[in-house]
Amino acid sequence: MPLTSLPPLALYAHIPWCARKCPYCDFNSHERSGPLPEEEYVARLLSDVEGLLPSVWGRRLISVFIGGGTPSLFSPHAIDTLLAGIRARLTLEPGAEVTLEANPGTVEAARFRGFRDAGVTRISVGVRSFDEGMLEALGRIHSADEARRAIDAALAAFDNVNLDLMYALPRQDLAMARADIEAALACGVPHLSAYQLTLEPNTAFWSKPPALPSHDEAADMQVLAEETFKNYEHYETSAFAKPGHRCRHNLNYWEFGDYLGIGAGAHGKISFPDRVTRHERAKQPRDYLDKKINFSEKEVPPDELPFEFMLNALRLVEGFPVSLFEERTGLPLLTLNAQLEKAESQGLLERDWRRIRPSARGRLFLNELLAWFLPDGRSGSEPEFIPLRPAARP
Ligand code: SF4
Repeated sequence: MPLTSLPPLALYAHIPWCARKCPYCDFNSHERSGPLPEEEYVARLLSDVEGLLPSVWGRRLISVFIGGGTPSLFSPHAIDTLLAGIRARLTLEPGAEVTLEANPGTVEAARFRGFRDAGVTRISVGVRSFDEGMLEALGRIHSADEARRAIDAALAAFDNVNLDLMYALPRQDLAMARADIEAALACGVPHLSAYQLTLEPNTAFWSKPPALPSHDEAADMQVLAEETFKNYEHYETSAFAKPGHRCRHNLNYWEFGDYLGIGAGAHGKISFPDRVTRHERAKQPRDYLDKKINFSEKEVPPDELPFEFMLNALRLVEGFPVSLFEERTGLPLLTLNAQLEKAESQGLLERDWRRIRPSARGRLFLNELLAWFLPDGRSGSEPEFIPLRPAARP
């Protein structure tokens, strides 16, 4: 069935370098060696945008997210050139959200002001922990004091600041997690993300795993974060916002919107009236710069769309309006009735005639809930606690 309307469109730009590779990180990030090729990379990002234009003629951007890696390693001048170049090629909605990720070890007040003057409207600061021992175990390049100073400097320059925190860290107990969660709350930022450390393949922690809290302890930490951040709107599995500060860019992923993905290893999704496609860029920065492997693009098979939709939309605490599934996938919701009924009977899902949402139990056992929507189906078995990861990075 053709889509009756195209979803909102966002843009994700990936900056793939970091000062140092963190041992738990499976993002496409590469330890820098020497000066960064800022000018060459920004020019490549903009040529990447140009290549995508024919697929999105006439559509406007609701948000831009500059992620990484560590985008704050780039100078405000480079970010200014990038954002000016994007605006010259695509129209941004009035008041579009423009986020930049920052590592507390790479920013100071003047740099934040420079990013703001370049057109950034929102800063996401990756703190992870306020415990010096934990920061060391996580291989972070900043101290807890530097993290607090970076947050203060970000708040001085921006109304919209996110703080990223992790829990279930090596040898962390509930009291230590509580101290971290309370320290994050005390920063007074309008948006908090709290997610569980997980061991991912191709990371240093995967090859040499540290002692991590059990699933039950991790679940207690998650509940503790939800209780501590009760004055925030808990709108997504790991995201908490003051009114008016929900991350519009991430909401677009969770609502199965479209996004252009530019930069090394970036992924994107573009809908057309008769199909949904995904594109992907070369992972290695040099390959991306040299256009060695330009990009791959493929249509999402229709039988995979329900799972892809649910993978995103069921992360939302308030779920989604029943009409959204058909709007985004072109498939009737009726095709999922059996799975919805089973998930509901297991207490993992709640629904009425207007919305479908995960239950409190469904949020804790999200993997089990999602398994009902896999293309080949899978019967429910003993629920498995889902390690809570941040929003899927494109
Ligand atoms: S966690 Fe962040 S700072 Fe650390 S390597 Fe990954 S992207 Fe870079």
